[in-house]
Amino acid sequence: MNEHDSERLSGLLESDGMTNVDSVGEADVVVINTCCIRENADDKFYGTLSQLKNWKTEKDDRQILVAGCLAQKDRDLIRERAPYVDVVIGTHNVHRAAELLEETRYGRPVTEILEEAVLDDHTMFPSALPMRREVSYNAWVTIQIGCDNTCAYCIVPAVRGKEISRPGAEILAEVESLARSGVTQISLIGQNVNSYGRDLSLNARAAGDITVKPKPQFAELLRKVGAVPGISRVRFVSPHPKDMREDTLLAMAETPTVVEHLHYPLQSGSDTVLGLMHRGYTAERYLTRLAQAREMIDDLAVTTDVIVGFPGETEEDFLRTVEVCAEACFDSAFSFIFSPRPGTQAAQMTDMFIDPAVAVERYERLKVVLDHSAVIKHRERIGRIEEVVVEGMSKKNPELTTGRTRQNKILHFTSPQSLRVGTYAKVEVTDAARFHLSGRLVEVGDTPKHKLRLAVSSSS
Ligand code: SF4
Repeated sequence: MNEHDSERLSGLLESDGMTNVDSVGEADVVVINTCCIRENADDKFYGTLSQLKNWKTEKDDRQILVAGCLAQKDRDLIRERAPYVDVVIGTHNVHRAAELLEETRYGRPVTEILEEAVLDDHTMFPSALPMRREVSYNAWVTIQIGCDNTCAYCIVPAVRGKEISRPGAEILAEVESLARSGVTQISLIGQNVNSYGRDLSLNARAAGDITVKPKPQFAELLRKVGAVPGISRVRFVSPHPKDMREDTLLAMAETPTVVEHLHYPLQSGSDTVLGLMHRGYTAERYLTRLAQAREMIDDLAVTTDVIVGFPGETEEDFLRTVEVCAEACFDSAFSFIFSPRPGTQAAQMTDMFIDPAVAVERYERLKVVLDHSAVIKHRERIGRIEEVVVEGMSKKNPELTTGRTRQNKILHFTSPQSLRVGTYAKVEVTDAARFHLSGRLVEVGDTPKHKLRLAVSSSS
C-alpha cells in the first residue's frame, strides 16, 4: 500500500511539472513516504530527516514533504523534531501534495492530516490519481482502503481509517485501461481484500436494493478482473483467514489468470495467542481452510506471516506455532519478533511482555522449521517447467536473468538471449534453495508491448 502511495506521490508531482532526479543533492524537493508498521522504519525515518536538515539550508527554496502512516500518527512529533519540514500530510490526503508544496514555498510550514477519507471523493483511492509506475508490466490496483478489524498489534486501523471498498466498475475501468497500455499483471491491494465489497452490498441494501446479498464481493471481482483481455496474471494481498470464503477459493481455481499463490497470514498457532491478538480464527480452522485451498487449487503456493513473542506467549503457545507451521509446510514465511507499536492495544500489555532474549531464541527455532519447509517446497519444483515474467538481470550474477513464477517465486536462469523486462518465458527448474529457484530458458513467450517506464493516469 505504501509503495503504491509512493507511485502516486511521484506521479502527482510529475503531473505538476517536476522531474525525478537521481540524487538528493540535485533535488529541490524531497518527499519521504513513511510507514509505521515496523519499529526500525521509525528510527530510519528520523535519522534521514535529521540528515536532511543541512541539505535544506544549503540552498534557498528547498522543500521537504513527509507523507504516509507515520506522518498520520506522529504529526506533532515530526514538527517538534524537525520544524524545518515544509509539509506533513497523512494517509487520506496524498492528492494534496503538489498544492501544499506550492502553498508553503514562500509561506509557513503546513501540517494537514485528515482523520478519515472523505467519502464521495474519488481521490481517496490511491489508484484514482496520476502515478509513476516503477515496474512497467505490473500495476497495483487499490480495491479497498482502511480496515474494520482490531488486531491488537496493528496500527493500520488507527492510521488508515475504516474499511471502504472502491466501486467495482471503477476498478474494472482502471484494469482495462492498464491492459490497453501494456500492463499484463494486476496486483489487487487492500488491508483485508477478501472482505472487499461487504460495505458496498450493505450500502446498496440500505439504499433500497434488496436484491443485493449482504456479503463480500471479492470472488466476483477476481473473476471479472481475471477476464479482462490482455491480463495474464492477477495477484492479491492480503486476505484475512477469518474472512476466507469458499467462493474466493473457487474463483481462484476457476479463473486461469488468477495465480496459484495465496498469502495467508497465520500470525500464531496458539489459540490463546490468536485470541489475545483478536484474530477471529483458531489454528484448526486455519489449517482446515488451508487444506481446502490446496485441494481446490492445483499447485498452490502458500506463504504466511508469523509473529513470535507476542505478549503472554508461553513456551507451550510457541510450540503450538511451531507445530502448526510444520504442518502447514509454507513455501515461505515472513516471521517477526513482536515489537510494540505505540497506539496499539498490544503496546499496553506491558505486564505480559516476554523477555527479549526468549523471543530471539524462539524466533531462531521457528526459522529452522520455516526454512526447512521452504527448501522442501522448492525442491519439489526441480525438473518442472515454470512460466516466469522477466524482472531483469540477477543482482548478484549478471550472467543470469531473473524472473518470477506464478507461485511468486524468484527464478534465476541462464538464457542464450537477452530478454526484456516483462517478457513471459518457460524455464526448466534445475536447482532450488531457500529463497529462490535456478533454471535454464526453454522457450520465450509473449514480449511486452509497453515502454520500460511509463507515467500512467487512471481513466477513472
Ligand atoms: S486485518 Fe488486522 S493486521 Fe490486517 S490491517 Fe486490519 S487490523 Fe491490521
